[in-house]
Amino acid sequence: MNARSERARLTGGCDAVAQYAVDGVRALQPYQPGKPLGELEREYGVRDAVKLASNENPLGVAPAARAAMARELDGLWLYPDGGGFGLRRALAAHHGVEPACITLGNGSNDVLVLIAETFLAPGREAVYSQYAFAVYPIAVQAAGATARIVPALGPESGQALGHDLEAMAAAISPDTRVVFVANPNNPTGTWVTEDALRRFLESVSPEVVVVVDEAYHEYALAAGAPDASAWLGEFPNLVISRTFSKAYGLAGIRVGYTLSSPEIAGLLNRVRQPFNVNSLALAGAEAALGDQEFIARTVNENAAGMAQLGTGLAGLGFEVAPSAGNFLLLDLGRDAAPVNEALLRQGVIVRPVAGYGLPRHLRVTVGTAAGNDRFINALAHALEGSTA
Ligand SMILES: *Cc1c(COP(=O)(O)O)cnc(C)c1O
Repeated sequence: MNARSERARLTGGCDAVAQYAVDGVRALQPYQPGKPLGELEREYGVRDAVKLASNENPLGVAPAARAAMARELDGLWLYPDGGGFGLRRALAAHHGVEPACITLGNGSNDVLVLIAETFLAPGREAVYSQYAFAVYPIAVQAAGATARIVPALGPESGQALGHDLEAMAAAISPDTRVVFVANPNNPTGTWVTEDALRRFLESVSPEVVVVVDEAYHEYALAAGAPDASAWLGEFPNLVISRTFSKAYGLAGIRVGYTLSSPEIAGLLNRVRQPFNVNSLALAGAEAALGDQEFIARTVNENAAGMAQLGTGLAGLGFEVAPSAGNFLLLDLGRDAAPVNEALLRQGVIVRPVAGYGLPRHLRVTVGTAAGNDRFINALAHALEGSTA
């Protein structure tokens, strides 16, 4: 045994070094993604499973995006365009902003982390709501900053479990550098109105970055949620994040972006990995952006699927809170874990949200008409088969 491995043995091997991971990282709980279809099929021996667990677009990849990615294959020996010129130009035209306002990410998860790396550090604080999207606590803690988690709204608000913007504004301290607002929020489906969000932005010091995460923007407009990107010129501390993972149907290629002032974009660009968005992703996203007909169809299908789920769930005696996304949060009124297990056995994957502090709820993505039916029937069966 050489000296190095002898020392590793004496100090407890691999674990010896783990204690030196930075505090924020050691305290982290890893993000729990939706169960992949293949994993369910392997573990439960079921076939033709349906996944309603990750808010993906049930219409799949838009044909234009697929064709653009196929054309890109022969170029994959080359590094991608690190500046993302084509996609940023297309996004700039789409949003009516300068390309310098756009920062691309490997999914919007990546840009959320870039914001945390840029503005947070030990001794600094970030404010977000109870039940807010799980990536915020991970990004904040990994940066070593302190999270101020603001209690969510109660049932009397009409947006139960949603963000309490007034309480969030009140939670901002001189050490606060970033506030995260998910509009709508995942997993709750709740949203904040145009008036409330404007008032909030007006009340926050321009020295605090306000991130408005609009991952479900395309769906949310129909529910009446505002498009905060219209206010970029007015609030230099505003950062909007968007993604191609949800309505655009490209969760697997990982592209998201922020809209911000050129100054904030310039800062994010300093910490961004030079090639954080790959060539397929750049080509696919640009083509997807050009196919707004697909988005319109997606939004229509979602509305129909949401109504279908609402009717089916009402038939099972559930009242479902409105959602501005392509998912709903179902309160089962009892421990969701056995129900989830019974759904899995029937080949239906939804998302348990006990990790969010919601052990009686399941988050269900709106699927195809057939997928939604599968879920309703499987749920009926699951409820029959298990005692309350
Ligand atoms: C899904 C989601 C995202 C990001 O997803 P990416 O695939 O990383 O773009 C961001 N915010 C919310 C609220 C989400 O639900």
